[in-house]
Amino acid sequence: MTANLQNPIFTDETKAREWLEARVWPNGPVCPHCGATGDDVTRLEGTKHRPGLFQCSQCREQFTVTVKTVFERSKVPLSKWLAALFMMTASKKGVSAHQIHRSLAISYKTAWFMCHRLREAMRQGGLLPPMGGPGAIVEVDETVIGRRQGIGRKSVAKAKAGFAHKNVVMTLVQRGGGARSFHIDGVRAEDIVPVIEKNLSRETAMMTDEHTSYTDVGKKFASHETVTHSKDEYVRYTKDRVITTNTVEGYYSIFKRGMKGVYQHCSEKHLHRYLAEFDFRYSNRAALGVNDLMRAEIAAAGIKGKRLTYRRPNKVTQSYPYKA
Ligand SMILES: [Zn+2]
Repeated sequence: MTANLQNPIFTDETKAREWLEARVWPNGPVCPHCGATGDDVTRLEGTKHRPGLFQCSQCREQFTVTVKTVFERSKVPLSKWLAALFMMTASKKGVSAHQIHRSLAISYKTAWFMCHRLREAMRQGGLLPPMGGPGAIVEVDETVIGRRQGIGRKSVAKAKAGFAHKNVVMTLVQRGGGARSFHIDGVRAEDIVPVIEKNLSRETAMMTDEHTSYTDVGKKFASHETVTHSKDEYVRYTKDRVITTNTVEGYYSIFKRGMKGVYQHCSEKHLHRYLAEFDFRYSNRAALGVNDLMRAEIAAAGIKGKRLTYRRPNKVTQSYPYKA
């Protein structure tokens, strides 16, 4: 089945549900209440039950594929959820809630909530193994996101010079691999070091710019090489490798174009969700052999075990991207 607008999962509720069941339960249905599988769960057929309902004989609860997922208790048809999921996962720089609102004929507010739930589905959950490893190169850099102080090298320099800024993002990108981004408090060693120690395997070759917050932590890794951006040095060649942070800079360029063009701005409290979205697409990009359909399938599998409820929908206006 190819992922295009004619796919029946975008219009037919039964097909949408079956597609989602296959992604969430690749080995057959699992009771979200107690974890029972196999003969302990029975699909309730017939007209008395709503479609997609299962009965668990272990805990005696009933469930559908959306119970205990980010789709739980949504009134939006599953077919529209899947259309939004495909739109978000297929476009490199993301898609605005406005676009989803117009394309799927749902209210802007609903589209905004859906987008955030879908970002949650894309978030890498749980305890992740460290990135890198023997022979792997990971580039680490940080940037400043936000309108107030602009984005770009000058504000990074300012932040590095000690100007506190709340929207500092730090990203680890493995060459030929994925990305992990973090919203951190600043660019001091105490902000940066714990993230590196937790997320980077000690056997990794680390590359950064000359920023001194990396100096001490760099000694803990297989190697730590730097390029001196303040002297306009961006790439340096050694016998066996290229020293640069251009890969992570490339990640920021996609992120910033996306945030600027599609999302306009986002409030600080949601920044980590946008980062999760861009990390997800980058880590599952075409260059790594992941096509649009596979990327949507991976995101769909990520809906389970996560829930996101906003109790105060009036807060939506905070992130409204345009002045009407
Ligand atoms: Zn159960």
